[in-house]
Amino acid sequence: MDTQQYFSKTYQESRERFRGLLPQVKELWPDAALHTESIGNEEDLTIDFIYADARVSNDQVMFMTTGEHGIEGYAGAAVVQMFIENHSHAVDADYTGLCLVHSINPWGMKHFRRVTGNNVDLNRNYIYKTEHVPEDLNTNYRDASRLFQPNGSLKEIPREKTVLYEYLTKGMAEQGYKAVKTAKGMGQYEFEKGVYYGGKEEERSASIMKSWQRKMLRNYSRVIHMDWHTALGPTNEVTMVISDHEERDVDTLRNDYHMENVEKFSPSKVKGDSTNHFYELQQHEFPDRRLLSALFEFGTFGTDREAELREFTTIILENELYWEGAEREEDRRWILQELRNMFYPVEQEWREAVLTEAEKVIVSVMKHENMMKDASAVSSIRKA
Ligand SMILES: [Zn+2]
Repeated sequence: MDTQQYFSKTYQESRERFRGLLPQVKELWPDAALHTESIGNEEDLTIDFIYADARVSNDQVMFMTTGEHGIEGYAGAAVVQMFIENHSHAVDADYTGLCLVHSINPWGMKHFRRVTGNNVDLNRNYIYKTEHVPEDLNTNYRDASRLFQPNGSLKEIPREKTVLYEYLTKGMAEQGYKAVKTAKGMGQYEFEKGVYYGGKEEERSASIMKSWQRKMLRNYSRVIHMDWHTALGPTNEVTMVISDHEERDVDTLRNDYHMENVEKFSPSKVKGDSTNHFYELQQHEFPDRRLLSALFEFGTFGTDREAELREFTTIILENELYWEGAEREEDRRWILQELRNMFYPVEQEWREAVLTEAEKVIVSVMKHENMMKDASAVSSIRKA
């Protein structure tokens, strides 16, 4: 399989490819159009939407979003392209609308970071109006803030790594491990240069996406939302991560979508998640609509304890590098490479797995949600 035609090297290349999908989309949805929203004012950064109403009646919509976590958007964009090229012709366009989103966090994608230009983890920034976020949400994080806050340039990675590993794994330091783990889920809203920062204000990207969530619920009886991410879950496999707001249990979801890996999360353990916001919005303001909104993650490091430590170390060191720099060039390169390994690996095996795993789950979702005009019309990716 030639994965190069799907996985781009730069944000600009990825965006050009995405915009280039419009003619193919118009063959099926003649009224489809490209919408762009500028993010920030210094660079040419946009969130791009390809949107089309259903041709006859807006019964349902396939809503795909990518790049909430910047660097993770490269895999998401590859999946969207694969979906349009290989499977859009199977969608019943008479009754199914389409909304494809290229890179919710274009700054992060361009600069190969997870966060926005304001150091915000966007997926901790979608707060529904009834949700209250106390300042001291994450006490553990504050206690351990000395470790998660950048303090001086990185001197020698092997040593920094050892210190971090020890802190995260030994004795009293279990506290440090818990702190990062909680911060990962709940975000933290106090330290603007720290990791998993949820932001003091709503990011422009979040405001824009909230209005598109509203638009989807207003326009369609059923909204099927697939939000593409990377890193979590078993290596080279896809994992569905879905809010407790979804009524079906894990086994039913596994069965319905033919998926091995399904994880549910409680809104009380995860703050500011965009899919959670989507469900809150639906329940409070559009109770007659049906919503499926889930994250789909392509695993990289794996799921064991060692992988988790590697993940935390990578995220903490990359954050320190961004703010304070490194004294040695080799250390700088090593950290950036680890971040790539975690969120956008170069391995052919991983990239092929992204496309084949995505294909399986997209077809399962299309079937289960009755989006296809003819089940036999579905082809699979031809192996090169
Ligand atoms: Zn993500």
